[in-house]
Amino acid sequence: MIMSHAQPSLTRTGTGNDRPAPQSPIRAPHTHPAFAREDVSNQVTVIGAGPAGLVCAIALARAGRRVLVREWHRNVGMRFHGDFQGLENWSGETDVLDDLRAAGIEPTFDHHGVTRGTVYDSRGSHYQVQSARALFYLVRRGSDEGCLDHALLRHAIAAGVEVRFEDRASDAEGNAVLAIGPRRADIIAVGYVFETHMADGSWLVLDERLAPRGYAYLLIHAGRGTLASCMLKGFKQQAVYLERTVAFFRSQLGLTMRAAKPFGGFGNFRIPRSAIQGGHPVIGEQAGFQDALAGFGMRYAIRSGLLAARSILEARDYSSLWREELRPLLRAGMVNRFIVNLIGERGWPAVEKLLTHGDARIALQRMYRPSIASRILFPIAQLHHLGTSRDPSCDHIDCDCVWCQHQAEHKPPIADRNSRGGSTPTGSTRADRGEHL
Ligand SMILES: Cc1cc2nc3c(=O)[nH]c(=O)nc-3n(C[C@H](O)[C@H](O)[C@H](O)COP(=O)(O)OP(=O)(O)OC[C@H]3O[C@@H](n4cnc5c(N)ncnc54)[C@H](O)[C@@H]3O)c2cc1C
Repeated sequence: MIMSHAQPSLTRTGTGNDRPAPQSPIRAPHTHPAFAREDVSNQVTVIGAGPAGLVCAIALARAGRRVLVREWHRNVGMRFHGDFQGLENWSGETDVLDDLRAAGIEPTFDHHGVTRGTVYDSRGSHYQVQSARALFYLVRRGSDEGCLDHALLRHAIAAGVEVRFEDRASDAEGNAVLAIGPRRADIIAVGYVFETHMADGSWLVLDERLAPRGYAYLLIHAGRGTLASCMLKGFKQQAVYLERTVAFFRSQLGLTMRAAKPFGGFGNFRIPRSAIQGGHPVIGEQAGFQDALAGFGMRYAIRSGLLAARSILEARDYSSLWREELRPLLRAGMVNRFIVNLIGERGWPAVEKLLTHGDARIALQRMYRPSIASRILFPIAQLHHLGTSRDPSCDHIDCDCVWCQHQAEHKPPIADRNSRGGSTPTGSTRADRGEHL
């Protein structure tokens, strides 16, 4: 959910609230006696330097393990463009930045706690949403100073991790963790990053004409802006939806953009049957760990990275760890997505009531708590997701949607080599369909 800002400026240290830090359920992994410090020759290779891989590498290195991170590109965050993303703060009881601190990672990246915002719907109504605590933290993604990825890289290097760039892994040997990011597109985003004189704020639009099954957003902070249409279908018409999104914000808010740069990206969400591949833990979006309602994956990347580190350091079973800690949330996200798809625009009054009646963070938190209703609905939601997980409007012929563009440059990654089958014309693998939901 994208809301407007309340805090004055991006900070590298503040949490956006001044409460005492609560006890975080995420803790720094302990070193199991079997992997004690003298065992540093026992190297772990992490494949992929996104948030999942870097957080995992930091936790392992801090516990005394020798860690090599292999990254395909020449820097971190290369699939991002300095765009603002929301590090959500509602799917856990604790503050996401406190969770990072509890794992020994100071949030030295630029971040800004967002406590309120405006939501528009397709009926032309709009309403304010607010929370006493940060609903999410606005962070930037990419390789520049201040971006989340850049800060995590710094932490990793300081912890003694060796990061090898321009090293595209085609297989994984020894003690390895797989963290190569999304493998297919369930959701795509197209938009602009730009400079502006507009005042800070965050706006969300729920309108099929701008973003089919998804949402459009505008985030402005300190003279920088990110605008995008995030869609779960209609990929082939991405340019039309983006144009409509720009027109909408121009007419509603007088949007002005300077030095606008287009960007696009895609995301993958599913609940894997197994997040172990070739005996290696799979973390972050490569495992499909992402909120199915709105495509928030950073917190799951961080959580799963820490869980994989814990499984190695404490000789615990990674499957049990992620199933216990992540699966209930992932299932709730899938049920929420199913409900939204089912009720469509008829449900906007209910959404408005839910988000404006009291504290929005608490309302969202409730939506991610396991309940009897979500348990009953999950099997149906799961089937529904299988049926809709590929965009039927994109036939991949003469198409330049971000997913088709990506596939043109993307050869089968390591995951595919370890899978039971080859790739399909859509770039997905039999592993996608067989091993996962
Ligand atoms: C436009 C856009 C907006 C988003 N907005 C939000 C948001 O607001 N909030 C949110 O929580 N999430 C958001 N997400 C999702 C979030 O960015 C991802 O879920 C998150 O980055 C996943 O982290 P990861 O470490 O699993 O993967 P990634 O960040 O994708 O990192 C994977 C890394 O692995 C590398 N790699 C790939 N293949 C290989 C290989 N074979 N060998 C070596 N290295 C390899 C890649 O180069 C990359 O650096 C957004 C995504 C997009 C595209």
